[in-house]
Amino acid sequence: MTEENSLRRYKKDDDGVLWISNYVAKARSKTEYKVQRLLHHEHSPFQEISIVDTKGFGRMLVLDGTPQISTGEGFIYNEMISHIPIVTHPDPKKVAMIGGGDCGPAREAMKYAGIEQIDVVEIDQRVTEVCRTLLTPSSFYDNDPRFQMIHEDGLNWIQKNKGNYDVLIIDRSDPVGPAAKLFKPDFYQYVYDCLTNEGVAVFQSGSPFYNTSTLQKTVHNLKELFPIVRTYLVTIPLFPCGIWSFTLASKKWDPLQADLTKLLDQEAQYINPEIFLSSFVLPNYVKKMIETK
Ligand code: SAM
Repeated sequence: MTEENSLRRYKKDDDGVLWISNYVAKARSKTEYKVQRLLHHEHSPFQEISIVDTKGFGRMLVLDGTPQISTGEGFIYNEMISHIPIVTHPDPKKVAMIGGGDCGPAREAMKYAGIEQIDVVEIDQRVTEVCRTLLTPSSFYDNDPRFQMIHEDGLNWIQKNKGNYDVLIIDRSDPVGPAAKLFKPDFYQYVYDCLTNEGVAVFQSGSPFYNTSTLQKTVHNLKELFPIVRTYLVTIPLFPCGIWSFTLASKKWDPLQADLTKLLDQEAQYINPEIFLSSFVLPNYVKKMIETK
Protein backbone atom coordinates (compact mmCIF):
# COMPACT_ATOMS: atom_id res chain seq x y z
CA MET A 1 0.00 0.00 0.00
CA THR A 2 1.37 3.46 -0.83
CA GLU A 3 1.46 6.11 1.86
CA GLU A 4 -1.36 7.97 0.10
CA ASN A 5 -3.58 4.89 0.04
CA SER A 6 -3.12 4.41 3.77
CA LEU A 7 -4.58 7.86 4.48
CA ARG A 8 -8.02 7.78 6.05
CA ARG A 9 -10.74 8.94 3.65
CA TYR A 10 -8.27 9.68 0.84
CA LYS A 11 -8.53 7.86 -2.48
CA LYS A 12 -6.72 7.94 -5.78
CA ASP A 13 -8.84 7.93 -8.94
CA ASP A 14 -8.03 6.11 -12.20
CA ASP A 15 -6.01 9.10 -13.42
CA GLY A 16 -3.84 9.01 -10.31
CA VAL A 17 -5.45 12.13 -8.81
CA LEU A 18 -5.74 12.16 -5.01
CA TRP A 19 -9.09 13.08 -3.42
CA ILE A 20 -10.30 13.50 0.15
CA SER A 21 -13.67 11.83 0.34
CA ASN A 22 -15.85 12.96 3.23
CA TYR A 23 -18.87 10.66 3.54
CA VAL A 24 -21.73 11.75 5.80
CA ALA A 25 -23.67 8.62 6.68
CA LYS A 26 -26.77 10.40 7.92
CA ALA A 27 -27.31 12.23 4.64
CA ARG A 28 -25.95 9.39 2.44
CA SER A 29 -23.88 12.07 0.76
CA LYS A 30 -20.25 12.57 -0.02
CA THR A 31 -18.16 15.73 -0.40
CA GLU A 32 -14.91 15.31 -2.32
CA TYR A 33 -11.91 17.64 -2.35
CA LYS A 34 -9.33 17.37 -5.11
CA VAL A 35 -5.80 17.36 -3.72
CA GLN A 36 -3.08 19.12 -5.69
CA ARG A 37 -0.28 18.17 -3.34
CA LEU A 38 0.00 16.17 -0.15
CA LEU A 39 2.45 18.20 1.92
CA HIS A 40 2.40 16.32 5.18
CA HIS A 41 1.00 13.11 6.66
CA GLU A 42 1.54 11.48 10.05
CA HIS A 43 -0.20 9.61 12.82
CA SER A 44 0.22 11.50 16.08
CA PRO A 45 -0.65 9.82 19.40
CA PHE A 46 -4.15 11.37 19.05
CA GLN A 47 -5.10 11.42 15.38
CA GLU A 48 -4.04 11.35 11.75
CA ILE A 49 -2.75 14.75 10.67
CA SER A 50 -2.37 15.84 7.08
CA ILE A 51 -1.84 19.10 5.24
CA VAL A 52 -2.78 19.39 1.59
CA ASP A 53 -2.81 22.03 -1.11
CA THR A 54 -6.06 22.27 -3.08
CA LYS A 55 -7.06 24.57 -5.89
CA GLY A 56 -10.50 25.42 -4.54
CA PHE A 57 -9.74 26.04 -0.86
CA GLY A 58 -6.01 26.70 -0.78
CA ARG A 59 -4.00 24.95 1.94
CA MET A 60 -5.96 22.75 4.31
CA LEU A 61 -5.53 21.10 7.72
CA VAL A 62 -7.13 17.64 7.69
CA LEU A 63 -7.56 15.58 10.88
CA ASP A 64 -8.61 11.92 10.65
CA GLY A 65 -9.61 12.56 7.05
CA THR A 66 -11.91 15.49 7.91
CA PRO A 67 -11.01 18.97 6.60
CA GLN A 68 -10.80 21.39 9.55
CA ILE A 69 -9.73 24.75 8.19
CA SER A 70 -8.44 26.16 4.91
CA THR A 71 -6.48 29.26 3.98
CA GLY A 72 -9.14 30.11 1.36
CA GLU A 73 -12.14 30.46 3.65
CA GLY A 74 -10.94 29.88 7.22
CA PHE A 75 -11.47 33.55 7.99
CA ILE A 76 -15.23 32.89 8.13
CA TYR A 77 -14.99 30.22 10.84
CA ASN A 78 -12.24 32.00 12.77
CA GLU A 79 -14.00 35.36 12.85
CA MET A 80 -17.43 33.99 13.70
CA ILE A 81 -16.27 31.79 16.57
CA SER A 82 -14.16 34.56 18.16
CA HIS A 83 -15.52 38.07 17.52
CA ILE A 84 -19.08 37.24 18.60
CA PRO A 85 -18.27 36.14 22.20
CA ILE A 86 -15.50 38.77 22.54
CA VAL A 87 -17.81 41.63 21.51
CA THR A 88 -20.67 40.25 23.63
CA HIS A 89 -18.53 40.78 26.75
CA PRO A 90 -18.13 44.54 27.37
CA ASP A 91 -14.54 44.36 28.64
CA PRO A 92 -12.82 40.98 28.22
CA LYS A 93 -9.31 40.72 29.65
CA LYS A 94 -8.68 36.97 29.84
CA VAL A 95 -9.62 34.72 26.94
CA ALA A 96 -8.98 31.00 26.49
CA MET A 97 -9.56 28.64 23.61
CA ILE A 98 -9.86 24.88 23.79
CA GLY A 99 -8.91 23.23 20.50
CA GLY A 100 -6.06 25.21 19.07
CA GLY A 101 -5.31 23.79 15.64
CA ASP A 102 -3.88 26.52 13.49
CA CYS A 103 -4.75 29.12 16.22
CA GLY A 104 -6.96 31.11 13.83
CA PRO A 105 -9.36 32.29 16.59
CA ALA A 106 -6.35 33.36 18.71
CA ARG A 107 -5.15 35.58 15.87
CA GLU A 108 -8.59 37.20 15.78
CA ALA A 109 -8.57 37.75 19.57
CA MET A 110 -5.19 39.53 19.26
CA LYS A 111 -6.90 42.30 17.28
CA TYR A 112 -8.59 43.50 20.51
CA ALA A 113 -6.17 45.75 22.37
CA GLY A 114 -8.07 45.42 25.67
CA ILE A 115 -7.46 41.67 25.92
CA GLU A 116 -4.51 40.99 28.22
CA GLN A 117 -4.17 37.20 28.06
CA ILE A 118 -4.93 34.66 25.32
CA ASP A 119 -4.43 31.01 26.28
CA VAL A 120 -4.79 28.28 23.68
CA VAL A 121 -5.23 24.71 24.94
CA GLU A 122 -4.48 22.08 22.31
CA ILE A 123 -4.25 18.38 23.12
CA ASP A 124 -2.03 17.51 20.19
CA GLN A 125 1.34 19.24 20.09
CA ARG A 126 1.98 17.80 16.63
CA VAL A 127 -1.00 19.72 15.19
CA THR A 128 0.55 22.97 16.42
CA GLU A 129 4.01 22.07 15.18
CA VAL A 130 2.81 21.03 11.74
CA CYS A 131 0.58 24.12 11.40
CA ARG A 132 3.45 26.30 12.56
CA THR A 133 5.60 25.06 9.67
CA LEU A 134 3.02 24.78 6.93
CA LEU A 135 -0.12 26.77 7.70
CA THR A 136 0.17 29.54 10.27
CA PRO A 137 1.84 32.86 9.34
CA SER A 138 5.37 32.47 10.73
CA SER A 139 5.34 35.76 12.64
CA PHE A 140 2.27 34.76 14.66
CA TYR A 141 3.74 32.76 17.54
CA ASP A 142 6.54 35.12 18.49
CA ASN A 143 5.01 38.57 18.18
CA ASP A 144 2.40 38.84 20.91
CA PRO A 145 3.35 38.42 24.57
CA ARG A 146 -0.34 37.95 25.53
CA PHE A 147 -0.43 34.60 23.72
CA GLN A 148 0.32 31.34 25.51
CA MET A 149 0.13 27.85 24.02
CA ILE A 150 -0.74 25.04 26.44
CA HIS A 151 -0.42 21.47 25.24
CA GLU A 152 -2.89 19.61 27.38
CA ASP A 153 -6.22 17.82 27.20
CA GLY A 154 -8.90 20.53 27.39
CA LEU A 155 -10.95 18.50 29.87
CA ASN A 156 -8.01 18.18 32.31
CA TRP A 157 -7.06 21.83 31.89
CA ILE A 158 -10.53 23.25 32.47
CA GLN A 159 -11.04 21.34 35.72
CA LYS A 160 -7.99 23.13 37.19
CA ASN A 161 -9.02 26.66 36.13
CA LYS A 162 -12.02 27.88 38.07
CA GLY A 163 -13.53 31.38 37.94
CA ASN A 164 -10.81 32.82 35.84
CA TYR A 165 -11.79 33.70 32.30
CA ASP A 166 -14.00 36.37 30.73
CA VAL A 167 -14.37 34.50 27.43
CA LEU A 168 -13.96 30.82 26.58
CA ILE A 169 -13.98 29.62 22.98
CA ILE A 170 -14.59 25.89 22.62
CA ASP A 171 -13.21 25.20 19.15
CA ARG A 172 -13.67 21.45 19.42
CA SER A 173 -13.54 19.07 16.47
CA ASP A 174 -16.28 16.46 15.83
CA PRO A 175 -17.51 14.40 18.82
CA VAL A 176 -15.27 11.44 17.98
CA GLY A 177 -11.63 10.78 18.92
CA PRO A 178 -9.92 13.18 21.35
CA ALA A 179 -12.74 15.75 21.24
CA ALA A 180 -15.52 13.33 22.30
CA LYS A 181 -15.04 14.23 25.98
CA LEU A 182 -15.64 17.91 25.18
CA PHE A 183 -19.27 17.03 24.36
CA LYS A 184 -20.09 15.15 27.61
CA PRO A 185 -22.61 16.84 30.00
CA ASP A 186 -19.97 17.35 32.75
CA PHE A 187 -17.83 19.43 30.43
CA TYR A 188 -20.44 22.21 30.30
CA GLN A 189 -20.36 22.53 34.09
CA TYR A 190 -16.55 22.86 33.99
CA VAL A 191 -16.88 25.61 31.37
CA TYR A 192 -19.38 27.41 33.60
CA ASP A 193 -17.02 27.14 36.59
CA CYS A 194 -14.04 28.35 34.55
CA LEU A 195 -15.75 31.66 33.72
CA THR A 196 -16.02 34.79 35.87
CA ASN A 197 -19.51 35.76 37.11
CA GLU A 198 -19.98 37.77 33.90
CA GLY A 199 -18.31 35.28 31.55
CA VAL A 200 -19.27 34.31 28.00
CA ALA A 201 -18.54 31.00 26.24
CA VAL A 202 -19.05 29.79 22.71
CA PHE A 203 -19.14 26.21 21.39
CA GLN A 204 -18.77 24.73 17.93
CA SER A 205 -22.13 22.89 17.88
CA GLY A 206 -22.23 21.10 14.52
CA SER A 207 -24.38 21.30 11.42
CA PRO A 208 -28.06 21.85 12.21
CA PHE A 209 -28.87 19.57 9.30
CA TYR A 210 -26.38 16.72 9.77
CA ASN A 211 -25.57 16.87 13.50
CA THR A 212 -29.04 17.48 14.92
CA SER A 213 -28.46 15.71 18.21
CA THR A 214 -25.09 17.43 18.78
CA LEU A 215 -26.78 20.81 18.51
CA GLN A 216 -29.79 19.76 20.60
CA LYS A 217 -27.66 18.30 23.39
CA THR A 218 -25.33 21.33 23.42
CA VAL A 219 -28.25 23.74 23.81
CA HIS A 220 -30.04 21.51 26.32
CA ASN A 221 -26.96 21.14 28.54
CA LEU A 222 -26.18 24.86 28.42
CA LYS A 223 -29.76 25.90 29.25
CA GLU A 224 -29.48 23.92 32.50
CA LEU A 225 -26.63 26.23 33.55
CA PHE A 226 -26.67 29.61 31.81
CA PRO A 227 -29.44 32.26 31.80
CA ILE A 228 -28.62 33.31 28.22
CA VAL A 229 -28.10 30.66 25.51
CA ARG A 230 -28.20 31.65 21.85
CA THR A 231 -27.39 29.57 18.79
CA TYR A 232 -26.17 31.33 15.68
CA LEU A 233 -25.61 30.06 12.14
CA VAL A 234 -22.76 30.53 9.70
CA THR A 235 -22.13 29.39 6.15
CA ILE A 236 -18.82 27.51 6.00
CA PRO A 237 -17.97 26.56 2.40
CA LEU A 238 -15.45 23.88 3.49
CA PHE A 239 -17.88 21.79 5.53
CA PRO A 240 -20.36 19.27 4.11
CA CYS A 241 -23.74 20.96 3.55
CA GLY A 242 -22.17 24.35 4.33
CA ILE A 243 -24.46 25.44 7.13
CA TRP A 244 -22.94 25.34 10.59
CA SER A 245 -23.92 26.32 14.12
CA PHE A 246 -22.16 27.89 17.07
CA THR A 247 -23.88 28.22 20.44
CA LEU A 248 -23.12 31.09 22.80
CA ALA A 249 -23.80 30.82 26.55
CA SER A 250 -23.55 33.82 28.84
CA LYS A 251 -23.94 34.50 32.56
CA LYS A 252 -24.92 38.15 32.13
CA TRP A 253 -24.39 39.73 28.71
CA ASP A 254 -26.80 39.21 25.84
CA PRO A 255 -25.18 39.31 22.37
CA LEU A 256 -28.31 40.96 21.00
CA GLN A 257 -27.61 43.95 23.29
CA ALA A 258 -23.86 44.09 22.57
CA ASP A 259 -22.03 47.29 21.63
CA LEU A 260 -21.35 46.53 17.97
CA THR A 261 -19.33 49.69 17.38
CA LYS A 262 -16.40 47.67 18.77
CA LEU A 263 -16.57 45.47 15.67
CA LEU A 264 -16.05 48.42 13.35
CA ASP A 265 -12.53 48.88 14.68
CA GLN A 266 -11.43 45.45 13.60
CA GLU A 267 -9.99 44.43 10.27
CA ALA A 268 -12.43 41.67 9.39
CA GLN A 269 -13.04 39.94 6.09
CA TYR A 270 -16.42 38.50 7.05
CA ILE A 271 -18.03 39.82 10.19
CA ASN A 272 -19.71 43.22 10.48
CA PRO A 273 -22.57 44.47 12.70
CA GLU A 274 -25.24 43.26 10.25
CA ILE A 275 -23.74 39.76 10.03
CA PHE A 276 -23.35 39.68 13.82
CA LEU A 277 -27.05 40.31 14.42
CA SER A 278 -28.46 38.38 11.48
CA SER A 279 -26.54 35.21 12.37
CA PHE A 280 -28.81 34.90 15.42
CA VAL A 281 -31.93 34.85 13.22
CA LEU A 282 -32.86 31.18 13.02
CA PRO A 283 -35.08 29.36 10.53
CA ASN A 284 -38.11 27.64 12.04
CA TYR A 285 -36.71 24.12 11.71
CA VAL A 286 -33.69 25.08 13.83
CA LYS A 287 -35.83 26.96 16.38
CA LYS A 288 -38.04 23.91 16.76
CA MET A 289 -35.07 21.56 17.01
CA ILE A 290 -33.50 23.43 19.91
CA GLU A 291 -36.77 24.24 21.69
CA THR A 292 -38.19 20.74 21.81
CA LYS A 293 -35.32 18.99 23.59
N1 SAM B 1 -10.28 26.64 14.03
C1 SAM B 1 -9.10 25.81 14.24
C2 SAM B 1 -7.93 26.32 13.46
O1 SAM B 1 -7.75 27.51 13.36
O2 SAM B 1 -7.14 25.51 12.98
C3 SAM B 1 -9.41 24.37 13.98
C4 SAM B 1 -9.45 23.66 15.27
S1 SAM B 1 -9.98 22.03 15.08
C5 SAM B 1 -11.72 22.32 14.77
C6 SAM B 1 -10.08 21.35 16.65
C7 SAM B 1 -8.78 21.13 17.41
O3 SAM B 1 -9.13 20.60 18.69
C8 SAM B 1 -7.82 20.12 16.81
O4 SAM B 1 -6.58 20.74 16.59
C9 SAM B 1 -7.71 18.99 17.85
O5 SAM B 1 -6.41 18.43 17.96
C10 SAM B 1 -8.11 19.74 19.13
N2 SAM B 1 -8.67 18.88 20.18
C11 SAM B 1 -9.42 17.76 20.03
N3 SAM B 1 -9.72 17.24 21.24
C12 SAM B 1 -9.18 18.06 22.17
C13 SAM B 1 -9.12 18.04 23.59
N4 SAM B 1 -9.70 17.05 24.28
N5 SAM B 1 -8.45 19.04 24.22
C14 SAM B 1 -7.85 20.03 23.52
N6 SAM B 1 -7.84 20.09 22.16
C15 SAM B 1 -8.49 19.12 21.50
